[in-house]
This record gives sequence, C-alpha cells and structure tokens, in this order.
Amino acid sequence: MMRLDKLLANMGFGSRKEVKSLLKQGAITVNGAQVKSPSIHVDEKKDHVQVNGETVEYREFIYLMMHKPPGLVSATEDKRDETVVDILQPEDRIFEPFPVGRLDKDTEGLLLLTNDGTLAHQLLSPKKHVQKVYYARIDGEVTEETIKQFRQGVTLDDGYVTKPAILHILDAGPVSEIEITITEGKFHQIKRMFEAVGMEVIYLKRLRMGSLELDEDLELGEYRELSDEELDRLF
Ligand code: URA
Repeated sequence: MMRLDKLLANMGFGSRKEVKSLLKQGAITVNGAQVKSPSIHVDEKKDHVQVNGETVEYREFIYLMMHKPPGLVSATEDKRDETVVDILQPEDRIFEPFPVGRLDKDTEGLLLLTNDGTLAHQLLSPKKHVQKVYYARIDGEVTEETIKQFRQGVTLDDGYVTKPAILHILDAGPVSEIEITITEGKFHQIKRMFEAVGMEVIYLKRLRMGSLELDEDLELGEYRELSDEELDRLF
C-alpha cells in the first residue's frame, strides 16, 4: 500500500504538488471512482488507478542497459563531472536508478543501471564470482607468459594478489588487443593488472557482466530496458 500522490509522482505524473492539482481537477479515479484526496492509500498492485482515463501501470523496478561512453562517471551525482544517470530520460530517472558497479570515466561499454538493490548486491558480491568480460587495447606485447601470470594472479600496487583471470590474445604486437575475464571488481583492476606486468591499458570496454551482454546496436551513450529474456537470465 502507498499514498496515492506518491504513487502518481513516482510513476511520472508530476511533483506531489502537480499531482494534487490533478486530483483537484477530478482527473484521477481509483477502481472507477473519482478521488480527490492525495493522502488515501492504494494497493499499487491491485487497485486500478487511472489518470484522465489512462491506466497507471505501477512498477517498482527499472533495469537499463547502457553503452557507456567515455567521459561520464559511474555515479548518481558528481560535483564536477557528468554522470551516467545525468543522461537518462526524466521518465527513467524517476525510478532513481544507480549504476551496478563502476566503470572508470574513460572506460566504455556495458553498464547496468537499476533501482533493484537486491540484484545489484548479487551481481557485485565477491562471493558470487560474477564474470566480467572486457575488450582492451594494451600498449605492450601480450604473450603466453602474460596469460600465465594472469591465470596465476598478479600482485597489484597495494600488494593485493588478483584471483585467476582468463586472458585471450586477439592480436599481439607492440599494441595488443585482448579479451579478459575477471571475477572481481577492484578499483581500476584491469589497468592495475597490466601495470603489474609493465604494460598500459590504452582502451577498455566492458562486453559482458554475468549473463548480460552488451547490445552492440546501442551507440555510445544510448541505453534501453532489458528484455524479458535478459531479465530471466539474470535472476
Ligand atoms: N578495470 C579497470 O581498470 N577499469 C574499469 O573501468 C573496469 C575494470
């Protein structure tokens, strides 16, 4: 159960004040009966709420896949930089989604945004070992030796030894192209792993997180809701 004005405001029908005015105008019905009080409680799952004859579909959660562009920070707000939430449409921001995990400001690729804290926790919990797959370009020649080092774990600048990571060489050269799978999410993890072996990540893009794969039809900065199939696989 929740207050009618809160439900309508949450579903994007304006601020509480604007909703109050809609109620005053007689635009709102609950189970067919006109309602003017903002404070009545409705069962958001059972009661039939309409605004000017249009049914209000209540939903609690939102799940968005974004192709994160470089230059945005993975946060809900930031004093200096634009955030991934800043570029969402107002009708999506109403749900107060937040990014599930962080990509660095200059990292691109798959970012899930949701207001479902339980799912976020499951995807981020170190105990769940959720695989994250990245494509990267590396300044340096990645070799079989690097693959072995990453499989065994490398020591980061703070002394932390990384869990086994799977490295695939797509193209070896003075600048190498690789794909890497990690199951952790330490700060700047992949950049620091390559630093640990004397190389530098010059481009980084996340391709996958658990069962969720970046939809390459999304241009940088575009996003869409997860499909039912993608949601089913995540839960
Ligand atoms: N590892 C990094 O170094 N940066 C990211 O954004 C993600 C993983």
